[in-house]
Amino acid sequence: MADKRDYYEVLGVSRSATDDELKKAYRQLARQYHPDLHPDDPTAEEKFKEITEAYEVLSNSEKRQIYDQYGHEGLDSNGMGGSGGMGGFSDVSEILESLFGGMGGMGGMFGGGTRMNNPNAPRAGRDLQTSVTIDFMDACNGKSQNVQVQRMETCPDCHGSGSAGDGGSEVCPDCQGRGTVKSTQRTPFGMISSSKTCPHCGGKGRIIKSPCGKCRGAGRVRVSKSINVDIPAGIDDGQMIRVSGMGDAGVNGGPSGNLIVAVNVKPHPVFQREDYDIHCEIPITYSQAVLGDEIVVPTIDGNVKYRIGEGTQNGTIFRLRGKGVKKLQRSDRGDQYVKVYVEVPKGLNKKQKDMLQQFESSLESKNYAKRDNFFKKLKDLIGKEK
Ligand SMILES: [Zn+2]
Ligand SMILES: [Zn+2]
Repeated sequence: MADKRDYYEVLGVSRSATDDELKKAYRQLARQYHPDLHPDDPTAEEKFKEITEAYEVLSNSEKRQIYDQYGHEGLDSNGMGGSGGMGGFSDVSEILESLFGGMGGMGGMFGGGTRMNNPNAPRAGRDLQTSVTIDFMDACNGKSQNVQVQRMETCPDCHGSGSAGDGGSEVCPDCQGRGTVKSTQRTPFGMISSSKTCPHCGGKGRIIKSPCGKCRGAGRVRVSKSINVDIPAGIDDGQMIRVSGMGDAGVNGGPSGNLIVAVNVKPHPVFQREDYDIHCEIPITYSQAVLGDEIVVPTIDGNVKYRIGEGTQNGTIFRLRGKGVKKLQRSDRGDQYVKVYVEVPKGLNKKQKDMLQQFESSLESKNYAKRDNFFKKLKDLIGKEK
């Protein structure tokens, strides 16, 4: 309570302000800070509560007198401090109603409890989520795919009104259209009244005479819908696509939510993807490695031929520029990296082994530059140690 600002300061008026000046100041500030106008700003709600509390006290002559004489402490000790004090509410609600028309919705804002949204205000529909699993190649090339979702749509029978035929609606008899009802409690400090959302009409202020049979008056129905999703070329496993406006339909003219589609990509038997690059490994024969050859390399565009040079070493990686995946929202592509590994032949017969041995003995140390170099180093090392 010690941090509370002066009520006159909060409303920006002098200590001698008339009731009309107070009202005018409050109207102006309420229009500026009403939480319905700042749904994403929690400070607006705090600010709004502060100005409402200030107005509530200063517009009540008894409270104002106590406040002028004793300050915040005077009100606290009389059980009048903070929100939920005595009286004054109808005035506040009237001002807000005149300001915002149907946007009043003040039930629960005062007298404790959390703020309730005005049921008549336009509200955006919820976002819906689903997932699709596609093949590796479809992720590379893009695809259009249907997904099935359970979506809230505006009721086709009543077009969202919730009313059957021309029945229409009538003013709620419990709250006379206010959407809120007052409850009064006797406490040691006197009668404390607060307003809450009318339970009969749910705060709408009107009751539908004969509810629509299809949506039972809700104005929306859940339907199973097949939605076409454009999966762009280049999408990767775990990424999301937003299909705008395909979530639940809004309420009271609010916009529809979005459909969020999580994309799973199946692994490929030959290709591995790393961002927009593709990696693959290709086995080659001993002779191909020794003599060089034209080998067939699979790419996502189909097979291509690639010439490997004479004396290609095991594990050599070569790059095919622009043979990777098309980049999202761009025209260029990643690259493909191909690693060749030499498959050592197994299960040779005697004749083959003899031929190989004969071949091997024909080689000289210059044919094995690396091996030669390695043993030279080893020899130097042993020589030095002795
Ligand atoms: Zn309906
Ligand atoms: Zn009502």
